[in-house]
Amino acid sequence: MSAAVSYERVRERLDALKLNAALAALDRVLEAGEKEERLSVEILDELLGTELDARFERRVHTNLQLSGLPATKTLEDFDFDAQPDVPRDTMRELATLRFLHQGENVLLLGPCGVGKTHLASALSLEAVKRGHRVYFLTLHDLVTKARAARERNRLENFARTLIRPELLVLDEIGYLPLERDDATFLFEITNKRYQQGRSIILTSNKSFGQWGDIFPDPVLATALLDRLLHHATTINIRGESYRLRHRRRAGLPSATT
Ligand code: ADP
Ligand code: MG
Repeated sequence: MSAAVSYERVRERLDALKLNAALAALDRVLEAGEKEERLSVEILDELLGTELDARFERRVHTNLQLSGLPATKTLEDFDFDAQPDVPRDTMRELATLRFLHQGENVLLLGPCGVGKTHLASALSLEAVKRGHRVYFLTLHDLVTKARAARERNRLENFARTLIRPELLVLDEIGYLPLERDDATFLFEITNKRYQQGRSIILTSNKSFGQWGDIFPDPVLATALLDRLLHHATTINIRGESYRLRHRRRAGLPSATT
């Protein structure tokens, strides 16, 4: 068979197999291979690598869109000097995502404005960039969506959406008290993820001791905390709001008004 026929066939077959990135790179990879006198196995390796890289990139892009991540805050943007309660080493360790592979949780506690959501987003972004599926939502969103799903008899579906991703982020627990149905649902999700060894990142403006006030039933609060804390890193941020501090540094009133 002539080389020209083979070339045509390779194009057709890459197309039929939907190896679109490999097809697009075929000429470049072949030409470079010839020029540099590479082995055919090296040429194949590069061609397949191009396809896999493109697929990974597409997956990251899709996962980012589906993640619900509010903003693309990163750990590089985080000013650790301004927030000594956030240990740099711990964050660096968390950014390796070992916690995710071990199904451990990350609990970020502290008052408003101290960087909890920023840190939760930064870790989530890290996970997305490395190909993991992440679902980020506030507890308020979870309650609203659970209620809508319950009305349409689709609570099971919504539960699966919360259980399946490698990482679930529950932002802002404690801003509103939970009703029994919602608290039970939250417990079920947490319990399933716990059983399946899947991580949760959670932020709260309430200390664990105050969780009894958020839940309709202290037994439920205890059971939930029990699952969450079994394998967890807790970061307690006591400092003041980052923005307020900056306002004061700039000589502006500290805006309690
Ligand atoms: P929280 O979730 O604790 O209420 P956020 O994470 O929303 O606080 O932080 C409020 C704002 O301040 C965000 O824009 C965040 O990026 C910024 N911020 C907070 N802490 C820091 C910090 N240490 N370095 C840089 N930006 C910060
Ligand atoms: Mg927040």
